[in-house]
Amino acid sequence: MENDRYSRQTILPEITEEGQKKLSAAHILCIGAGGLGCPALLYLAAAGVGHLGIVDFDTVEESNLQRQILFSTDQTGQNKAAAARDKLIALNPDIEVTAYTEELTEGNAENIFSGYDIIIDGTDNFAAKFLINDTAIKCGKPLIYGSISGFEGQVSVFNLHGGPCYRCLYPAPPQSYVPNCAEAGVIGAVAGLVGTQQALQAIQVAVADKSFAPLTGKLWMIDAHDMQTQCLTLPKNPFCSVCCQPKDKIVLEYSSPVCGLISEVTPEQARENRQAVFIDVRETHEWQAGHIAEAQHIPLSLLSQNNIPDLPRDCDLVLYCRSGKRSVTAARILLADGYMNVYSMAGGYEAWKHLENHS
Ligand SMILES: [Zn+2]
Repeated sequence: MENDRYSRQTILPEITEEGQKKLSAAHILCIGAGGLGCPALLYLAAAGVGHLGIVDFDTVEESNLQRQILFSTDQTGQNKAAAARDKLIALNPDIEVTAYTEELTEGNAENIFSGYDIIIDGTDNFAAKFLINDTAIKCGKPLIYGSISGFEGQVSVFNLHGGPCYRCLYPAPPQSYVPNCAEAGVIGAVAGLVGTQQALQAIQVAVADKSFAPLTGKLWMIDAHDMQTQCLTLPKNPFCSVCCQPKDKIVLEYSSPVCGLISEVTPEQARENRQAVFIDVRETHEWQAGHIAEAQHIPLSLLSQNNIPDLPRDCDLVLYCRSGKRSVTAARILLADGYMNVYSMAGGYEAWKHLENHS
């Protein structure tokens, strides 16, 4: 019974049956089914948002389960967008959920965004955040922004009724290296606070009751050490290179933090290279659970503090992590430090083990 499912919210004078119809007609796209996307999507599906889209090319890993609450242990190894869709449909079979199992890039972003009214940014890296912002502006869609760093969280609504955008706050991606959740650490409940706030903002924008004041032109901040919250005024930058440009002048750019310009080698190529020095950039507990014989251990958490030990400069440095993502970040840091022959091993230690077991 649809009426029964939503009865606790339709009795609210701010929602009513009319607001419920708007939710049911809404198309909301969430980029990233991670720590922010999972709680946001759960609440939106439960509230009866009729059409949800999820973009995520990543797979569910055991270390995600501590905060990515849509997933269960038996889903490890599955694509996140597809695994999220299955859970959301189980929660609410009345809604439509579309999974985009590819990486969002400058090539597909406009096409994907065009089918939705509201965009939610659930990503954790600057390259994606800038692409999402610029695409939302180009396509004229409001963007629910969220980010977390340790115990701190931020939420804002960009590009609503001519309000400011992400580039009004941060004009360009930072030049220095910024760690993500895997490296910096995060408590699931903090991600939950921010993701839930994003869901609420999306519902406010979709229902648009006159009593609602979504966070447009405002940056809501929470410090979960002492639960202090602040709401800063976020002015529109009249010189913003994106939201103060004609839409057709906005050029979408994206350099994937996954591949970028870093040279990759396959485990086969790495094994055949007698000159190669293997460097394991995983954290200590991962190294202790098994590693490539004769590899050196230099965790990314150390490298990212610019704590770079002396490494040989006359041979190839093959960096590896669990699956081949952190090693790309580590390779960037070494290249920036002047090392030349730096490679990231595609597929990481998992692929190496697979190779060893099958040869
Ligand atoms: Zn702007």
